[in-house]
Amino acid sequence: MKKQFAIIGLGRFGQSVCRELYHLGHEVLAIDKNEKKIEDASSYATHTLLADGTDEAALKQIGIRNFEHVIVAIAEDIQASILCTLHLKDMNVPKVWVKAQNSYHHKVLEKIGADRIFHPEHDMGNRIAQFLTSQKVIDYIDLSADYSIVEVITTSKVEGKSLIELDIRARFGCTILAIKQNGKVNITPNPNDELHKGDILIMIGSKQDLRRFQDEAL
Ligand code: ATP
Repeated sequence: MKKQFAIIGLGRFGQSVCRELYHLGHEVLAIDKNEKKIEDASSYATHTLLADGTDEAALKQIGIRNFEHVIVAIAEDIQASILCTLHLKDMNVPKVWVKAQNSYHHKVLEKIGADRIFHPEHDMGNRIAQFLTSQKVIDYIDLSADYSIVEVITTSKVEGKSLIELDIRARFGCTILAIKQNGKVNITPNPNDELHKGDILIMIGSKQDLRRFQDEAL
């Protein structure tokens, strides 16, 4: 279903969110106070607008409240990011997602009601570190400082063993959400399902438990 998004701030992050949404076929309004950025955005946004995201009257005038989802991608100017978020929440925009610059910025955004807060550089850094330190990790999502979801590839260590035999939840405290086997995804793994070398497990758990599972069971 086609959705409407507005992105405020067209730095590298704002631009890439904007491009992807546009390519996915959504309607995207790109807003920036920099004229050159707005000129360029006409190739990857449905509508563009030269405006200051901290200007409440300008936000009202363009009817930003009618957007279900607004992404604030101004980070360097923390004050501008906070003010813009505040206006959007005051105008009852249902979903305001904001890029944060640091933990102080994050705390303020949380207090003023940002619905989701991103730290793209930090998150990507974590993901890369995970890939670098484990050959078995294919993908990784940080849920919090302590918990994550990982996609791991199995080795011959699990060949022919059933989930009940491996007893992963009791031994390692983590849970298999899905198994990719021979190109098919099984989202309701059964205790008698057998694993084979090269299967992909999508698992949730504490980072410590997931690491222990990778080291000892795979
Ligand atoms: P990235 O790393 O994604 O490039 P960044 O941290 O460098 O992001 P910023 O430098 O904060 O991002 O700015 C991103 C964009 O936001 C720039 O294009 C800038 O012109 C725009 N911008 C900054 N302040 C405002 C504002 N008050 N209103 C609208 N756009 C703004």
